Amino acid sequence: MSEPILVAAHLRKDFRVPGGRQLRAVDDVSLTLSAGETLGVVGESGCGKSTLGRMILRLIAPSAGEIRFLGQDITHLSERALRPLRRHLQAVFQDPVSSLNPRMRVGDIIAEPLVNLGIGRADRRARVAELLEVVGLPADATGRHPHAFSGGQRQRIAIARALAASPKLIVCDEATSSLDVSVQAQILNLLSDLQARFALALFFISHNLGAVRHLAHRVAVMYLGRVVEIAPEAELFEHPHHPYTAALLAAVPAPVPDQAVPPPLRGEVPSPIEPPSGCHFHPRCARAEARCRVDAPELRPLPPSGALVRCHFPG
Ligand code: SF4
Repeated sequence: MSEPILVAAHLRKDFRVPGGRQLRAVDDVSLTLSAGETLGVVGESGCGKSTLGRMILRLIAPSAGEIRFLGQDITHLSERALRPLRRHLQAVFQDPVSSLNPRMRVGDIIAEPLVNLGIGRADRRARVAELLEVVGLPADATGRHPHAFSGGQRQRIAIARALAASPKLIVCDEATSSLDVSVQAQILNLLSDLQARFALALFFISHNLGAVRHLAHRVAVMYLGRVVEIAPEAELFEHPHHPYTAALLAAVPAPVPDQAVPPPLRGEVPSPIEPPSGCHFHPRCARAEARCRVDAPELRPLPPSGALVRCHFPG
């Protein structure tokens, strides 16, 4: 892989909640992403993966930490100072119905980022035609409105719009989660093709482990705001080292019947407002020992594997 285009260091995001208390949604997360690479981000609802994605997009500001994108520190850049970089930093969200303006024609939706870049009408028209072909939509889609399309086609429109300004990085937040299984597979294949063609970096947030396995080169597993394991895709899915990763994978049917699988997840995710002491995962961990209740583990390399693991007793 080439030099990282995104470097996030010690990111933290705190929210005030009713009663004056504080919710730490993202806690000391560091990661990198290179051109042509997909980083999958997984974890149960409320683990902080979408908040992390929104910080990377600079839709919300971090409470602490640093984000470097294309060599620039963008952590505290104003929207005006960020504008030249925005074209390289795009997003595709779960629900294309709410992310596409229903009153605009598809051609105008896709061309909007090009208008913002000051690109002339003829060049915009040519680029829209090219993008429709790239994402597998008919040329006459340009004059129609989003409601005339299926869910999968609307997601293709959203992807075409994200691609319009030739971005370096696309954050996909549950981008295939609202689609039927067969349509999901088509969109995943499209993202994979586009990545190879344009050397895109993808920050792929999903609760769907199958989708992440299909697309990701590396995977980060989050639990209560922290990354608990980050590893190359094959390593993570075949040899999960953190008990939480192993339990998440155990919830997916085993590809080989009778294969030994770790115990499934016990209990509910604790409140992020009052996370458990020590290792946040200890109340649900089948491997927990007394130390785990008082001593929070660091995210550490686990040689000779390529994984970083936050556990006192990694598997
Ligand atoms: Fe389980 Fe202890 Fe590892 Fe936490 S540190 S995941 S409680 S074994």
